[in-house]
Amino acid sequence: MIDCKIHGANDMRLEPTAMPEPGPGQVLLRLGAGGICGSDMHYFFEGRVGSFQIREPMTPGHEASGVVARVGAGVTRVKEGDNVAINPSHPCGKCDNCRDGRENLCREMRFLGSASIFPHVQGMFREYFLMGERQLTPVAGDVTLGELACCEPFSVGLHSVNRIGTPLVGKTVLVTGAGTIGCMTVLAAKLFGAVKVIVTDVVDNPLAVAKSIGADVGLRVDRLPAGTSLAEAIGEVDVALEVAGSPAALMSCLEATRKGGTIVQVGTLPPEGMHFPANQIMARELNYIGSFRFGNVFDWAVRYISERRIDVRPLISSQHKITDAIEAFNIAKDKTRSTKVQLVCA
Ligand SMILES: [Zn+2]
Ligand SMILES: [Zn+2]
Repeated sequence: MIDCKIHGANDMRLEPTAMPEPGPGQVLLRLGAGGICGSDMHYFFEGRVGSFQIREPMTPGHEASGVVARVGAGVTRVKEGDNVAINPSHPCGKCDNCRDGRENLCREMRFLGSASIFPHVQGMFREYFLMGERQLTPVAGDVTLGELACCEPFSVGLHSVNRIGTPLVGKTVLVTGAGTIGCMTVLAAKLFGAVKVIVTDVVDNPLAVAKSIGADVGLRVDRLPAGTSLAEAIGEVDVALEVAGSPAALMSCLEATRKGGTIVQVGTLPPEGMHFPANQIMARELNYIGSFRFGNVFDWAVRYISERRIDVRPLISSQHKITDAIEAFNIAKDKTRSTKVQLVCA
């Protein structure tokens, strides 16, 4: 079987490896679909994500679905042939943050396809892999393996909207960045009752996709009339979610959010820091909230997607055989044509 291993920047090798054997409580999965995420692309093209550097060969991939190939002793949650959504988050369950119900802040987190710890946690861009049964949610019905692979990024959108802490019914929401997570955030905001969702980006294709899944307004922020701020163009919003990881976008969130409103930072801003007019938070009583990956919303995401309460299909721009993974990464990088690019078994 084929395993995609990143050895360093621009060095991903498709390596043949032995089929693993499921031990007690473990499940052998065949890759259903695996979405290429921004962090996977940073690992491939740059050999690092922020301060997380590849220090040993690592399989990327944390957004995947699978088909149960074999089960180990004692497994009861799934059976051979089941289609499953896979939660890539492995909190310890024992630390203070886990016991507080904030598993995504776990002190001993193991997140699949991440070089944040050493040895690295291997991801799911391989034809077969083992997973503990508690990571799996079996799904029946006609939902596709491609849609099920969107449960992880939709969990990020659900978590970010959940972090706002107040109902969105009747609210106007700004989402800066119309990539996959931006679109997942739009879907979540609509689901939570937002009356109007405005999305900004600097590329046409992501905005068109965002509108196709329910954004009310899609705006090119780089094409505002000279001298016009985003706030002047769209009016004030109740809540802004910064998903692009762009300092300029965060500035526009600060400008456009009304007094007493809420800003959620979802995107990863430059690690070296940025100019931040913090007095805005004080003088206008803004709530400034962080949102990191996702907590215990994964099974909500599975239900919303598997029951098609939300439709993620317009976000899946193409699927490629895992043997064409390098080409797929290059296609995924091109935002003028790609939203979510997925790998599937050859
Ligand atoms: Zn991701
Ligand atoms: Zn923990």
